[in-house]
Amino acid sequence: MTLALMDRKADFPILTRTINGHRLTYLDSAATSQKPRSVIAAMNRFYEETNANVLRSVHTLAEESTEAFHRARVSTAEFIGAAGSEEVVFTRGTTESLNMVARGWGDKFLKPGDEVVVSPMEHHSNLIPWQRLCQRTGARLRFIELNDDGSLAMDHARAVINERTRLAALSRISNVLGTINPIREIADLVHTVGGIMVVDGAQSVPHEPTAVAELGADFLAFSGHKMCGPTGIGVLWGRAELLDASDPVDFGGEMISYVNRESATWADLPHKFEAGTPNIAGAIGLAAAIEYLNEVGMANIAQHGRQLGETAYQRLSQLPGVAVFGPPSPRAALVAFNIDKIHPHDVAQVFDSRGVAIRAGHHCCQPLMHWLHAAATARASFYLYNQPDDIDALVDAVEATKRYFTI
Ligand code: PLP
Repeated sequence: MTLALMDRKADFPILTRTINGHRLTYLDSAATSQKPRSVIAAMNRFYEETNANVLRSVHTLAEESTEAFHRARVSTAEFIGAAGSEEVVFTRGTTESLNMVARGWGDKFLKPGDEVVVSPMEHHSNLIPWQRLCQRTGARLRFIELNDDGSLAMDHARAVINERTRLAALSRISNVLGTINPIREIADLVHTVGGIMVVDGAQSVPHEPTAVAELGADFLAFSGHKMCGPTGIGVLWGRAELLDASDPVDFGGEMISYVNRESATWADLPHKFEAGTPNIAGAIGLAAAIEYLNEVGMANIAQHGRQLGETAYQRLSQLPGVAVFGPPSPRAALVAFNIDKIHPHDVAQVFDSRGVAIRAGHHCCQPLMHWLHAAATARASFYLYNQPDDIDALVDAVEATKRYFTI
């Protein structure tokens, strides 16, 4: 197999580790990605040379820090094709971003009888905020059902989306099925009836080129830690008009324009959504991650990931006693699977004894587990630093697990 990317493992110091006497095979990037040397160095450099709070003091460090924080916002905006950096709100991650839309936009604009559309494949982060929003406002939560292969049933989407639909919230890429959802088609349906399209980009922004306008998104949420950046930093992008119309959800320092004893007014975008001292080092780390990803090339990363995901799916599906989930192709850079009669946690433990790191569990997708009739699954997920020998290690670990449990 000729892959889109050459071996990049040398850029990631952690990948030299030995685990239980074996070379580390890291197949858990959908949970969090590893960090290249350049990201770690950028964050160290910030703390060693520049550290100061932003948007407050006028001393040199504070100005350098403020400038670096601003540049991070600009490169994030460019990375997703935003119209301007004021449309980029820094958050803790996808979860906080989605909650911010539900509270800031949803609480203000939804009323009884309105409808919110999701799917059964959503991560809890893109389900529970909408459940709670519907409970608070009297709106109704509706689901676009799935085809047998785990893709969205588009006929059902056309039936579910109607003039009462105020908002649809869907993941571009499922973190369990590996499905790549046709967000643009759904967005067109939603826009025709006057609703807005919220996209959970946690698994897609790290793995494919993103242009918010082409995607048809009105809000997009993603996390730095899944795209070679640090934990604790993420993004809510929104069209300026929608962010302007939304209410802030956190209150305090730096998000205000004017405060008197009784009330306050809000700062301009994006600051009205960023109360308190932000994650400055996190934003700088995210900018370094974006620089790294741009250097590797997002189109290459997308092709590489899909090649690995599809190959792993094919190879696992040929093994007796192994069930794989989601569509064979096209699929994203991950594959969820189960081995007959062996609990996924036991599978993950045998894998770990061979230095292979995978995730096992419900993957924060309990409704999807019900749909799959599985309590849990194992999941191998890939990123730009994986190569075909990692798939060999995955297949060998499955065989070893079967031998261990003698099935
Ligand atoms: N949505 C999807 C599809 C995910 O895979 C994840 C994380 O696994 C999230 C949302 C939540 O991301 P975070 O925990 O970084 O907020």
